[in-house]
Amino acid sequence: MVQRNIKSEIDSKLHDPILRSNLERFSEQYPIARAKAYANVDSIEDLRDDLRDMKRYSVAHIEKLADEFQASLEKRGAKVFRAKDGDELKEQLMAICRENNVHNIVKSKSMATEEIRLNDYLEEKGLHVKETDLGEWMLSVAGQHPSHMVMPAIHLNRKQCAKFFSDELKEDIPSDIPFMVQTARKVMRKEFLKADMGISGANFGIAENGAIGLVTNEGNARIVTTLPPVHVIIIGYEKLIPKVSDASKIMRLLPRNGTGQRMVSYLTLVDGPTPIIHEKNGKLIEENKKVYAILLDNGRLKAAHDPVMKEVYQCVRCASCLNVCPIWSTVGGNVYGHIYSGGIGAILTGLLNGMDEFAQFSDLCIGCRRCTTVCPGKINIPDLIQELRNRRVAQKGLSTPEKIIFRRIMTNRKIFHSLLRAASLGQKPVKSGKFIRNLPLFFAKMTEGRSLPAIADKPFRDRAEELFKKNPTNPKMRVAFFSGCNLDFVFPETGESVVKVLQDIGAEVVYPQKQNCCGKPVVGAGDLDTARKLAKQNIKAMEETNADYIVAACPTCAETLKQTYKELFASDPVWLKRAEAMSKKVVEFTVFVEKAYAKENRLKDVQGMKKITYHDSCHMKRSLGIYKEPRELLNSAAGYKFVEMHGADQCCGMAGSFGMKYADLSKQLLNRKIDNIKQSGADTVAVACPACMMQIGGGLDKNAPEIKVKHIADILAENLK
Ligand code: SF4
Repeated sequence: MVQRNIKSEIDSKLHDPILRSNLERFSEQYPIARAKAYANVDSIEDLRDDLRDMKRYSVAHIEKLADEFQASLEKRGAKVFRAKDGDELKEQLMAICRENNVHNIVKSKSMATEEIRLNDYLEEKGLHVKETDLGEWMLSVAGQHPSHMVMPAIHLNRKQCAKFFSDELKEDIPSDIPFMVQTARKVMRKEFLKADMGISGANFGIAENGAIGLVTNEGNARIVTTLPPVHVIIIGYEKLIPKVSDASKIMRLLPRNGTGQRMVSYLTLVDGPTPIIHEKNGKLIEENKKVYAILLDNGRLKAAHDPVMKEVYQCVRCASCLNVCPIWSTVGGNVYGHIYSGGIGAILTGLLNGMDEFAQFSDLCIGCRRCTTVCPGKINIPDLIQELRNRRVAQKGLSTPEKIIFRRIMTNRKIFHSLLRAASLGQKPVKSGKFIRNLPLFFAKMTEGRSLPAIADKPFRDRAEELFKKNPTNPKMRVAFFSGCNLDFVFPETGESVVKVLQDIGAEVVYPQKQNCCGKPVVGAGDLDTARKLAKQNIKAMEETNADYIVAACPTCAETLKQTYKELFASDPVWLKRAEAMSKKVVEFTVFVEKAYAKENRLKDVQGMKKITYHDSCHMKRSLGIYKEPRELLNSAAGYKFVEMHGADQCCGMAGSFGMKYADLSKQLLNRKIDNIKQSGADTVAVACPACMMQIGGGLDKNAPEIKVKHIADILAENLK
């Protein structure tokens, strides 16, 4: 495995203006095109459910489908092989080439052949191979790899394409798209006419009748399957589906999701050898084409039998998960594995190329979960990535710094909190008000374009007792406040606002001092043993309060306490029961308050002078499904006029340690967010997540200090009489 320097690769992509502008344009246009394509569909969810269920059935019966597909295709006169890996497939293909005296090959776009680097191999063997997909052809000329599954050359602009055309054809080709297409057509025609073999992939293979489907917008793939006398289909097991009618389940989603079209220009079904007229010994003769299919395993069958990872079979390679991924949209696909990019690419690389390769870029998934909202197969991409991270840690262990921080420091609350208190003193030389605006030496990047929040002089836990003196004398309920590290040590004033609002709605608030970090950072790093230790500490601390509710004003903590702990103890019945009991009491702050305000008839629309907008945290919106309640509360906050901003639910770029590890990349996401906030015309941006408050607040401090960021708890506390 080649050891890559991902950070420097990212840096070069961030400084590639052509790539950046192509991706920016595309990521703005794609959601609009997709929405238009689905405008005539009553329920996208129903279509997604149908596809997911059909693919789940397929993976559960994969060997049976493979047998049926093979039998159906052989019945029609084709020969079918199975290849356990790329090497075996290459040997089988070479045998077919020898048998048919093949010298010239035309190929249509196929990720499976990219995966096993088939072209390089065939060329080494002295065969002449031409890609016929325009994008793939240009990449092969340029010696580059696809950066997208559907639009492989999306990172190039037309001037670059013209240069590749010119280099390849040894003539000056202008950067005029229709001219280039005409030129390509002339070149390709010659290749088609001399080809002895066409190699295609398949978007699906139907077990019932042995047909394969090719979904394209260029007619070249169809010609690859029809003109040359020999056609070889290279198809991965994951493409097999049971019946002809199941193809429609793919076709209703794939074009809409892939390219924002209701239907592609060419849907080609090939179901076995057909007669062709071709020249043999100087004469034109009619005879059946030869059709071969090779079913490629290369790790796919192992994945099919993996109780968790089999979900990847639900992928139809539409690439919409890339199109909405904030990281892919910023740096493109070439910083991932050699072929599959984005979150699904990380998973496929892990399964097909091994965990070491996966680990090199697995943390480029920031868990924002946008992909889960569009994936036609309803694949839970971030959770599968997390599963692979967990497995890697189980196999290889943690790094030494992680071991020290997670296992020695974080699990010992007293040490952890003492270090935070010490850091609050140690930061004094670099602190200015509530911010650290400049860090020296190799930390400097962290404060370029954004300030960092300073650790508070006095954490929330030291202020709690004083606050609770104001608890109502006849409380309606008892609420335990779970602050999380940020509201405890960075934004204790917001913690105070939370308490004031809870007291205002009649709650007696208690703060269990034994609570610790919720454990999300260690879960993210794959250290489940430490996560369980932290979960036990928190469950015990919360149980001791005997509270009716547990309120968290950090969506990440709320999600961890409510959902993740149950998953952590799935095979420990005693702790699972305790985690379940606690989970029932956990409520996210805005949901809790909105319900109370609705009961008290306090959710009245008011129109103030100061414009306020809202940023949806990823965990809040897509993990907890909460987005209406914060808006309801803001609409009723006196003095403010609520305005929506563009891209309200796009990640701000913090994403836990990602924001520090990939500071430059994080800054790009932050800049986009700051631009959207500015364009909304708001004076204040409200958040419900302390981590977003940290990132957005730091960005505004450096770039637009006239705009304030506030937690909704602070806004509601301001409004209390
Ligand atoms: S994971 Fe889902 S969204 Fe991504 S390529 Fe596969 S089907 Fe499309």
